[in-house]
Amino acid sequence: MMKVRFWGTRGSIATPGQSTMRYGGNTSCVEVRCGNELLVFDAGTGIRDLGNQLLKEFPTDPMTVHVFVSHTHWDHIQGFPFFLPAYQPKNTIHLYGPPGRDKSFDKILKIQMDSDYFPVELGAMRAKLHVHEIREDIKLGSLEIKHFYLNHPALCLSYRVNDGTRSFVYATDNEPYQGTLFHNTQLATAATDFPTYLDEKFVEFMTGADLLVGEAQYTNEEYPEKRGWGHSPLESVVRFAVQANVKKFALFHHDPQHDDDFVDGMVRDAKNIAMHFKGTTECIGAKEGLEIVLA
Ligand SMILES: [Zn+2]
Ligand SMILES: [Zn+2]
Repeated sequence: MMKVRFWGTRGSIATPGQSTMRYGGNTSCVEVRCGNELLVFDAGTGIRDLGNQLLKEFPTDPMTVHVFVSHTHWDHIQGFPFFLPAYQPKNTIHLYGPPGRDKSFDKILKIQMDSDYFPVELGAMRAKLHVHEIREDIKLGSLEIKHFYLNHPALCLSYRVNDGTRSFVYATDNEPYQGTLFHNTQLATAATDFPTYLDEKFVEFMTGADLLVGEAQYTNEEYPEKRGWGHSPLESVVRFAVQANVKKFALFHHDPQHDDDFVDGMVRDAKNIAMHFKGTTECIGAKEGLEIVLA
């Protein structure tokens, strides 16, 4: 059994308030449990509440947590300094992620907790912290965690967890290559099918997933204004999910400008788009607190 729980579903910046109560205001954080393994995808502000829950679950026993960071934009790491299990010496925390453009993954995490930005240094975290820059696929017991580079204005990773029977894909902060490269005329004339090829590789990576937690930041109407920002119009993510034969697609990384009613509308649109492409992918909206069991 694989159990997935959403602790933060928002993109870009935390958005607390009445209008985001149902889908949630915390930024990206998803917990995945499988056997004894405890995996976390991204350390946005949602990881604070997850940490509090873990303190209750492991009051005296040590815990080992594997945190997979997609990339180091604020909305994906800002909660980590508030992840209380990292301050307890009995615990072990593994952090996995990509390097930055000119800094190591480790250094970026340290900079976030530099005294100019935060009162406590990374070194003050008393848990055994192991920082790994992702170079190859990871094996954790019977789990295999593969990665794939996305199209985003930072090195950004998608992850796929396979346990032999079930699979989970976490893919946020991605823009279709067809949306960016086709708009560079030089590249478009040089190799018109190259962006399509790259998008196909992404579809291949997701193929057959039981659950895709995938970004759905913009509507088709909003997208042209935000081209190049590293996010997708709804039509393309649903199309990719259908092409990949994904069983369930949870719309994730909700735009801060989208209130609950708006996200409801996007979920309805996603279902219609999936039908239009004759897909069987079930589309839902990722909500803070929602738990999905892949049995
Ligand atoms: Zn983001
Ligand atoms: Zn980002």
